[in-house]
Amino acid sequence: MIGLTEIQTAAREIGGMVHRTPVLTSERLDKLAGGDVFLKAEHLQKTGSFKIRGATFKVLNASREGAEHAVAASSGNHGQAVARAAALQGMRSTVVVPEDASPAKVSAIEAYGGRIVRCGHTSAERIPEARRIAREEGGVYIPPYDDPMIMAGQGTVGLEILEQVPGCTAIYVPVGGGGLISGILSAVKQTRPDVKVFGVEPESADDTRRSLASGERTAIGPTLTIADGLRTTIPGELTFPILMEALDGLITVPDSAIREAMVLMFQGMKQVVEPSGATALAGLLASGGTGDTGKRVAVLSGGNIAPADYAGLIS
Ligand SMILES: *Cc1c(COP(=O)(O)O)cnc(C)c1O
Repeated sequence: MIGLTEIQTAAREIGGMVHRTPVLTSERLDKLAGGDVFLKAEHLQKTGSFKIRGATFKVLNASREGAEHAVAASSGNHGQAVARAAALQGMRSTVVVPEDASPAKVSAIEAYGGRIVRCGHTSAERIPEARRIAREEGGVYIPPYDDPMIMAGQGTVGLEILEQVPGCTAIYVPVGGGGLISGILSAVKQTRPDVKVFGVEPESADDTRRSLASGERTAIGPTLTIADGLRTTIPGELTFPILMEALDGLITVPDSAIREAMVLMFQGMKQVVEPSGATALAGLLASGGTGDTGKRVAVLSGGNIAPADYAGLIS
């Protein structure tokens, strides 16, 4: 696990640079779920996702050590987060994106001052390119999840949940590479071990479910789930052991349930949540039959989605 002190340090150091996001509730949602539900609103976070937490902590530390250039490989939220975190420290940033990256994502990164480099179609192509740029241009590579500082930064979500929802009984978290959930597990299990933490994955991106079942990191083939932030095909080397040690369970949901959760957020609560961001809520609602009627929390992890894609998914 990541040390609690490290997560508390992250919370203190990034505090002035990221939002302490609100927790949302709805009577209608409580009825539907058969108990009290709390939504940790990271879709309202700076840059539109929790990724800014880990990126800010990591970039801040790199800046202190003299780095002037942050480099990331990302097609989405991590790229925006690194560009903004770097700009805030007065550092340059470069984000390696796929050849066919959407214009909306590219311009969001550019708006935070990030330089765009296009490369290939898979992260297996982008990551070595980002590392090469970092090496040759004197920069520091910022990984999206498999890094202790990134995990510590994401873990600050867990600390906030414990403060904002006293008596919470369970936390539902989306799982991509596992940075967010390993940070939350570290924060929660070292302070309130009785609070259950569940991971949620799309059915077609169930690399973590399979890995937990076999006891070792297991890769799946490429997937096209609508939850594009959760398309990682193998759990992280550093994140997976934390999940093995501390996770209370892993739930998989079909894309149709993710869409339903997005519609529920839009119609019932007027919240724009991207598919990856709605996945934990879909998991919470799917597990309604487990009899936990305590105070359950779902992390709405992000809200970045192009208008046309959003319209297509919720209509
Ligand atoms: C990155 C991301 C995730 C997954 O986070 P991991 O740390 O890779 O598990 C979930 N939701 C959103 C919106 C994301 O951007």
